[in-house]
Amino acid sequence: MKMILLGPPGAGKGTQAKMLSERFGIPQVSTGDMLRSALKAETALGLEAKRYMESGGLVPDEVVVGIVKDRLAESDCASGYILDGFPRTVAQADALKATLSSLDKELDAVVELVVDTEALVERLTGRRTCQVCGVGYHLRFDPPVDGALCRCGGELFQRQDDDESTIRHRLNVYLEQTLPLTEYYLGQDLLVQVDGMGEIPQVQALVLDCLQASK
Ligand code: ADP
Ligand code: ADP
Repeated sequence: MKMILLGPPGAGKGTQAKMLSERFGIPQVSTGDMLRSALKAETALGLEAKRYMESGGLVPDEVVVGIVKDRLAESDCASGYILDGFPRTVAQADALKATLSSLDKELDAVVELVVDTEALVERLTGRRTCQVCGVGYHLRFDPPVDGALCRCGGELFQRQDDDESTIRHRLNVYLEQTLPLTEYYLGQDLLVQVDGMGEIPQVQALVLDCLQASK
């Protein structure tokens, strides 16, 4: 299963990708997570990506395409993966297509999570993430059971780009640069749109239904 989870910031891509990853035993490939790890480790990649990520803009295509190509070549991606947060531009989608066809492979599905803008803002402002295991929570919709701690005992943090003005900028960047991918994948007969407004388990059931149907 090689699939893309598409959708605006806060749509629930990471949440759904983690659940699918556990269910199918294939990795979640999140460019956001990879870039944040590089930033934390202060690698050359992290330092290059820093200013784009802090402002809520996109990291240049060639940088992101390079890290995804390397990641997909790793052995744990051999039987499939869930791309989360990539591609985000038509150039990235073209590069992914070229990479896959050079390996004689194809995507199985592109699932787009459809969520209202104001719900996105509410989800992003309330998002908290475990700094140890990376699991996501929401202060209102998916609160941590143990007060401020993750199930694994790790402390939770709020992403620096999850403040309201950066969120609004990221949503505009999404509209300008990522939304065209809906038409792109519709044109390739790969896109399925899922109502992402329900509760987390409901959305998961809808995603599973459409993966079943697209087999
Ligand atoms: P994305 O990866 O698309 O940016 P996340 O999966 O990180 O989105 O979800 C953003 C926030 O919304 C998180 O705090 C998450 O717990 C919460 N969330 C995810 N799915 C839902 C949902 N269906 N209903 C309510 N909150 C959700
Ligand atoms: P979101 O919650 O918006 O889905 P991500 O964790 O996917 O957030 O991405 C966080 C930031 O990392 C983005 O705002 C952008 O700066 C950078 N980023 C992640 N993926 C990409 C990508 N495919 N292309 C360019 N920049 C990216």
